Amino acid sequence: MTRYTGLIEQYRFRLPLAAEARAISLGEGRTPLIKLENIPRQIGFDGELYVKFEGLNPTGSFKDRGMTVAVTQAVHEGARAIICASTGNTSAAAAAYAVRAGLTAFVLIPDGKIALGKLAQAIVHGAVVIQIQGNFDDGMRLVKEIGQTTPVAIVNSINPYRLQGQKTAAFEIVEALGRAPDYHCLPVGNAGNISAYWLGYCEMAGVAASYCPYHAEGRFLDAPLAKTRPRMVGYQAAGAAPFLRGAAVKHPETVATAIRIGDPQSWDLAWAAQRESNGWFDECSDAEILATQRLLAANEGVFCEPASAASLCGALRDIKAGRIAQGATVVCTLTGNGLKDPDVIMKDGLKGLIQVPAERAAVEGALLAHMA
Ligand SMILES: *Cc1c(COP(=O)(O)O)cnc(C)c1O
Repeated sequence: MTRYTGLIEQYRFRLPLAAEARAISLGEGRTPLIKLENIPRQIGFDGELYVKFEGLNPTGSFKDRGMTVAVTQAVHEGARAIICASTGNTSAAAAAYAVRAGLTAFVLIPDGKIALGKLAQAIVHGAVVIQIQGNFDDGMRLVKEIGQTTPVAIVNSINPYRLQGQKTAAFEIVEALGRAPDYHCLPVGNAGNISAYWLGYCEMAGVAASYCPYHAEGRFLDAPLAKTRPRMVGYQAAGAAPFLRGAAVKHPETVATAIRIGDPQSWDLAWAAQRESNGWFDECSDAEILATQRLLAANEGVFCEPASAASLCGALRDIKAGRIAQGATVVCTLTGNGLKDPDVIMKDGLKGLIQVPAERAAVEGALLAHMA
């Protein structure tokens, strides 16, 4: 057994990093691909339904995959500081990888609407947290402007090294299944992740995604591990669904704050992924998203954050509607950990909490009342 030291060491030869670039890593990647057992049975699905639980990365979201590569490259290029706009998880990852590398992290977060756990992470890792009186899209615009004049490396997903790191999740899935799934479902916000997965699946099949900048360098495996590629399916929150509207949304609103984005930066890439994979986009209401978050936690023991539940929410609806075929192999990415945003659960109060005197008879009484 050798110690796992993160996805750069694992996949270095398939990443566009210089051989001498020192990997800035927290051991990200290698997240579990969990096969759901109870929910498929309940809905009569006879295929295989998996969740890729990215909430188990070091800072609790898939952003770590992109950040390890982006920060490694930034350090290699001599950067002293990094900057990002964030709905929360990018700032948490940027803050953690920055301290690891000895860089300053500047993070622009929106006014309110950020999960407390994510803000706590940025603070505890010593990032310079700048709250702007605007939303994520405003922050993104400012970061792009500042990046042109100030010597800071932008680590949002417009940084191509982010997508290169994030594509490794698709590698892991193909390695775990021994093939590509038939459908891959993701929540879509800024749309970097769905673009990165398509890149990864294409590379595993030895085919170039139209926007893959590296295929010319021959970064493919000698023998492709997958014969097929999945249909890519992106689900948005109904109040923040530019891919459904066909244009940017001015005032995005959703309880799923991680995908509260109206002007996705990887717009063209995500459309290409959808087109080339013969996939589709759809939307989920906030109520559906929250219900799916609960359903997953209460039936499978997996606690993801609201935005993450959009992938499973849409997949279950499309399975029931027959749009995702019976017998298919389906993977849903659960992008972040539910522990980041406990407020969403607790705002309903301590429902189900039983208070009793500290006496055996009282506790036994409570037990008996709840025995199946
Ligand atoms: C960033 C994020 C998303 C959205 O990913 P994009 O690449 O911006 O589409 C979804 N869920 C969570 C938990 C995230 O942190």
